[in-house]
Amino acid sequence: MSNSLTRVIEDYLVTIYRLEEKYGVAKTSEIARLLKVSLGTVTNNLVRLKALSLIEHSPYKGIKLTDKGKEIALKVLKRHRLAERLLTDILGVEWYKAHDIAHKLEHDMEGLESHLKKVLGNPKRCPHGNPISEDVLISGIKLSEASKHKAYEVIRVDLEETNLLEYLERCQLKPGVTVEVLSVNDVISVKLGEKVVELPKLIASMVTVKEANKNE
Ligand SMILES: [Zn+2]
Repeated sequence: MSNSLTRVIEDYLVTIYRLEEKYGVAKTSEIARLLKVSLGTVTNNLVRLKALSLIEHSPYKGIKLTDKGKEIALKVLKRHRLAERLLTDILGVEWYKAHDIAHKLEHDMEGLESHLKKVLGNPKRCPHGNPISEDVLISGIKLSEASKHKAYEVIRVDLEETNLLEYLERCQLKPGVTVEVLSVNDVISVKLGEKVVELPKLIASMVTVKEANKNE
């Protein structure tokens, strides 16, 4: 298989994996949005992926990865997250920029995983809180479902997208930061240090938190 075709396939599989993780199933329109391509392009590529037995696609149920598709997606995701760690921890790239750059590197780092792990000290999570090793428990609640007057620590940004990460950076809301929830309505209002930050519910639903000072 040509290198560029492998890239395309890997990008689709990872995108479908991310969407499945978040919504249970992937929709053509969401894949097109995340990969910044047209619906027609997505449809054509889905036919290819189905022919390779990497996805199941039924018209009204949406798209799901087969076991084979999932295995490839997880390998690429792991490489992506290690690349992000390399960028932030060793090269000093900002956390919100690492996702986009890692997206380009992830395809060409095959075979380097164990070296990266060693150099990086076996990181368990990417800079956005998503798991690198299988033993990381996905826990916590969405910030949009938090209770008011409680303190929470940000642990994860689930659907990594540069626009979202840049927005969160402007708010200074990133993994490891503790916030106090002031109100939960259409807008989630949180206190972050001395500052009050108001987040639209949609954005708050992409940020996972746990109650501060609780070990999970
Ligand atoms: Zn990440």
